[in-house]
Amino acid sequence: MKSVLITGAAGFLGSHLCDRFIAEGFRVIGMDNLITGNLKNLEHLFSHKNFEFYHHDVSKFVHVSGELDYILHFASPASPIDYLKIPIQTLKVGAMGTHNLLGLAKAKNARILVASTSEVYGDPQVHPQTEAYWGHVNPVGPRGVYDEAKRYMEAITMAYHTFHGLETRIIRIFNTYGPRMRLNDGRVLPAFIGQALRGEDLTVFGDGSQTRSFCYVDDLVEGIYRLLMSDYASPVNIGNPNEITIADFAEEIIKLTGTSQKVIYKPLPTDDPMQRQPDITKAREILGWEPKVDRAEGLKITYDYFKSLPEEDLYRKDHNNFEEYIKR
Ligand code: UDP
Repeated sequence: MKSVLITGAAGFLGSHLCDRFIAEGFRVIGMDNLITGNLKNLEHLFSHKNFEFYHHDVSKFVHVSGELDYILHFASPASPIDYLKIPIQTLKVGAMGTHNLLGLAKAKNARILVASTSEVYGDPQVHPQTEAYWGHVNPVGPRGVYDEAKRYMEAITMAYHTFHGLETRIIRIFNTYGPRMRLNDGRVLPAFIGQALRGEDLTVFGDGSQTRSFCYVDDLVEGIYRLLMSDYASPVNIGNPNEITIADFAEEIIKLTGTSQKVIYKPLPTDDPMQRQPDITKAREILGWEPKVDRAEGLKITYDYFKSLPEEDLYRKDHNNFEEYIKR
């Protein structure tokens, strides 16, 4: 039986990855320090004989007993409001966390895939973004802690590949959505759906002309799986090229939820990228991958998930343990 360590296992993407690797017959070790992750996302796996959970912060030395075939490094705060609240932890998990996991991969002779991001392109001056574009990032802006940690993650991963011959994979993930996103993590989709469910107006930042391209989580997981199993070590964009302005996206959510609320406008956050769309030529050619779930279908599934949550979740300010964590 093959084994895989998944960091950030209790998070949105990590928990979907745990499900996928359990379904593929792997022994899965999920690791999370639970500052932004939620054990509810893994509850259904706790009784599975092939699943184990380690409560651990990967910025500290990582020990796993037994053999490991694969490592997927998905631990990180991933929402702009999270990395504003915990900037140093964000830097540490991308930098020291990645270093620890590369060391573990080397010790276990495991293949490692690291979760990079479209944020390495910053506020891009090239559109759509190909992997060859080096990016336009403000290192000292509010997003710098995330963007630069992920850029360092790519650099050190490539160094382990070229210097130690480690088998490495780098995925650049574009905006992804689906069930198990945190309702109050500040990102646009849960923000709008939460507002609609609470009967509040939808807050569009700036004039709403900025664009994003949203990928449904099942498509992303398929792309990750294919990249891991490929022999391609350079970065690969995975995302859905279907681009939409945030203003139009708000209208889609209003139609989907049937809310009678309106859109209100708030200031655009500093360094908010104006446009973002993945060029997925590489993923198509190398992995034979492209997204299959269109936005209408994915949004419906995601909306049904948010509607099924207990009502108190709608009013909870944070679904995280920052306060407790920072005290430690
Ligand atoms: N946004 C918005 N209203 C909100 C939350 C976000 O208009 O209540 C905008 C945000 O300014 C950005 C886009 O939606 O332009 C996507 O933001 P998100 O935080 O989801 O992720 P990003 O792609 O910026 O990392």
